[in-house]
Amino acid sequence: MIHATEELLAELRRIAGPDNVVTEAGPLEALSKDFYWYSPVLRRLLDAKRADAVVRPRALAELRGIVAACARAGAPVVARGAGTGNYGQCVPLHGGIVVDLSRLDRILSLEGGVARVEPGVRLGTVEAAARAAGWELRCMPSTWVKATMGGFLCGGSGGIGSITWGGINAPGNVKSVTILTCEENPRLIRLEEEETLKALHTYGTTGLLVETEMRLAPKVDYDQLIFSARDWDRLLDWTDAAARRAEWRKRLVTQFEWPVPSFFKPLQRHLKADEHATFLLVDRAQAGEVVRDAEAAGIACAYHSPLLDPPRPPFLTDFTWNHTTLWAIQSDPAFTYLQAGFGPDFRGQFAELARRFPGEILLHLEWTVGNSKMLHATADSAAIVAVGGIPLVRFRSEERLAEILECCREIGIFIANPHTFYLEEGGRHTNISEKRALKAEVDPKGLLNPGKMRTYPYNPFDTPGATA
Ligand code: FAD
Repeated sequence: MIHATEELLAELRRIAGPDNVVTEAGPLEALSKDFYWYSPVLRRLLDAKRADAVVRPRALAELRGIVAACARAGAPVVARGAGTGNYGQCVPLHGGIVVDLSRLDRILSLEGGVARVEPGVRLGTVEAAARAAGWELRCMPSTWVKATMGGFLCGGSGGIGSITWGGINAPGNVKSVTILTCEENPRLIRLEEEETLKALHTYGTTGLLVETEMRLAPKVDYDQLIFSARDWDRLLDWTDAAARRAEWRKRLVTQFEWPVPSFFKPLQRHLKADEHATFLLVDRAQAGEVVRDAEAAGIACAYHSPLLDPPRPPFLTDFTWNHTTLWAIQSDPAFTYLQAGFGPDFRGQFAELARRFPGEILLHLEWTVGNSKMLHATADSAAIVAVGGIPLVRFRSEERLAEILECCREIGIFIANPHTFYLEEGGRHTNISEKRALKAEVDPKGLLNPGKMRTYPYNPFDTPGATA
């Protein structure tokens, strides 16, 4: 359905300037897409979807005018940061207007360990500025060089740093968010502390994030380390123990099953055939102790290099989190993936997956810290180290993928399903009723990224077959 009438387009051009309203086929296609193509299921569902137009505001006043115009015209509004999401989060299901927020990119202040920023600022820019001032981001995705703050908070979950600070929904990481409502007279709403959680990871369905205050961590100088071993269990025991050693200051704890390390082409001279690998970022002052501890456990250190400051490549993080999946797909396009949270008996769960799907699943593990309240929806908020990860799957068919997902559920593996664009299935949403209520308050016409919040009762654009 075409929602961008000539009248709406003329108004958008008047507000943002003619050069900032994109309607040409090539750029429109590119700006309507993200990394959903990691999933063969999402490829089938989303390949043909695109916006009617993309608008690129430079300032909040322009954004407000754009949203008001769309609200009057009844056109869908889909926010876009850098477009690195991998659930098709910023792909418009019903056409309409994509609002590219990457030019609202100022760091407004960096004081007292809090970064107050506009939504389009790149995380890499914030990280560099924070480090120059003696701080660092508490957590960031492996796409931190390119991804925007708004996209991370609305589409991401955590990543580098989450072994110490948890993800975006860990208490205290986000101090405040300010969102713009989608109405004919758009309003600003500021949410603070725990209240922010209802606006996070909602794919731009609960308002447009226009400003955020992120708490930072004191800066640490890190070393980047790779350990490798032929014996999976020995490496797993050591890596798991390292993740749980609270006195070691860490930003990353990742383990890969062979042959996953063979996909990392630039690292081949450091890696050995048939050896599983662990990647760590640890405080430089403790790196020697960590290496000695590994060697005492019979595990060799294969690579040791400082993380440069200000940040400059090489970055080991370029091979972790969902970057691992990218290296695998580049090696063999038949790979796809899962996003998994394992339970306390993760060793038993790995064994069961190997028994039921021999050779089909390759383990890629990421350790994080959360609290039991966040991870298991209990009242207890004790900090716990959790084993999760982004296992690779050799794709055979959608039916086989569904069998794997079903088996994971059966044996207690939490799956943030990356083969659906519905936000409810793509993460842990213990507060989904609050998210729905916020959407009702800020988006009375149901125009914000329509179709993505499956349990929201009203989608004015839904026609049978239009969504999954
Ligand atoms: P986009 O993709 O542009 O947007 C993401 C979602 O947020 C969309 O629904 C969009 O509509 C919405 N949105 C964007 N800006 C706003 C706004 N201002 N207001 C309201 N809604 C908005 N994610 C992780 O969490 N951790 C990882 O480690 C990680 N690794 C990745 C590695 C690779 C190689 C890839 C391809 C993806 C990875 N991701 C990861 C997913 C993604 O890169 C991150 O979540 C990233 O932070 C998204 O930022 P973005 O600016 O690209 O957002």
